[in-house]
Amino acid sequence: MAPSTILAMRYHGEPKLSLEAVPVPALRPGEVQVKVAFCGICGSDLHEVYHGPLTCTCPGHPHPLTDETLPAVLGHEFSGEVVALGEGVESEGRLKVGSRVCIEPVISCRDCDACREGDTPLCDKQIGLYGYSRAGGLAPYVNVAMTNVHVVPDNVPLDVAALAEPLSVAWHAVAVSGFQAGETAFVLGCGPIGALVTRVLVARGASAVYVSEPSPVRRAIAAKCGATAAFDPLEDDAVGLVREATGGRGVDIAIDCAGTQRTLDGAVESTRRKGRIVMVALWDKAVKPQVEMWALMGKERILTGSSCFNARDMRQVLAALSSGQIVVDDLITQRIALSETFDKGLEVLRQDPAQVKILVDLSKEAAE
Ligand SMILES: [Zn+2]
Ligand SMILES: [Zn+2]
Repeated sequence: MAPSTILAMRYHGEPKLSLEAVPVPALRPGEVQVKVAFCGICGSDLHEVYHGPLTCTCPGHPHPLTDETLPAVLGHEFSGEVVALGEGVESEGRLKVGSRVCIEPVISCRDCDACREGDTPLCDKQIGLYGYSRAGGLAPYVNVAMTNVHVVPDNVPLDVAALAEPLSVAWHAVAVSGFQAGETAFVLGCGPIGALVTRVLVARGASAVYVSEPSPVRRAIAAKCGATAAFDPLEDDAVGLVREATGGRGVDIAIDCAGTQRTLDGAVESTRRKGRIVMVALWDKAVKPQVEMWALMGKERILTGSSCFNARDMRQVLAALSSGQIVVDDLITQRIALSETFDKGLEVLRQDPAQVKILVDLSKEAAE
């Protein structure tokens, strides 16, 4: 069991985080208490902290599903061990004290058509997320609804399991594209999500994966992830090179992980007739990109978006990590202590293009 008070990394709506003593709430029915092992820092955290609040809700406007507001304990990519069970969890039989788990962070109503069909991120209500709308994993302990908890296979270490969350985002984007083994793909932008999308495509049998990325360091990461070729969109005509590499035909799918007008145009133009284009990047709500409708109609291309992921994606990702179909150990680029989350975590991720996944190792904090 957790102590009554813990030190957690909180966000108050200013561009910083602070380590603060917070009470641990009583476990509610259907929840488990997780002793956090590792928590990843992500581009969404950067958006929230430097440009937010965006997902977190402000005082006076509590989240409709969680009733919570800022300040928020951040952290939505985490793994750990179950240390206590709320009422009704034991009888369900899936989780016990000592279970090694990772978290599916989407909080949805679990009652609308979308939720009943397993499309929890597409819920009719305003969805919430652990780490924004409820306390997350940048803390030694966190209470999580059992419906948001997945058991990690025995042979998957907990540091790797913390990457199951962003990997599921990538997995879902590939699933939304309708990708089939043997197809060709173009990934635009090779930040952390682009890198994971590339690795998922390679692991799932793409015949070629082309990447467009202006940073040379990140083009090297694309190569490490198995990209067939990585182009510099500032120096080269990346779309022209993709078309050339596919014999003029165009790729079967394009996944935009950058989210600019230029990458959106490139994603559309690089695909074949009836090609599929998926937007996985986050856009500022004020930005309204243009889509060349003739480029869609004239070739019957399909443009869609990918939103978070669902339980099935995370189950498939955990199975792929367990079988060795996907390896991500080499994409953990830093391990830091909880107290270093801002200075050595967010600040470094913001400035250093060589970072893929920075993990907060909660066991490092024990030295304090
Ligand atoms: Zn994330
Ligand atoms: Zn719902």
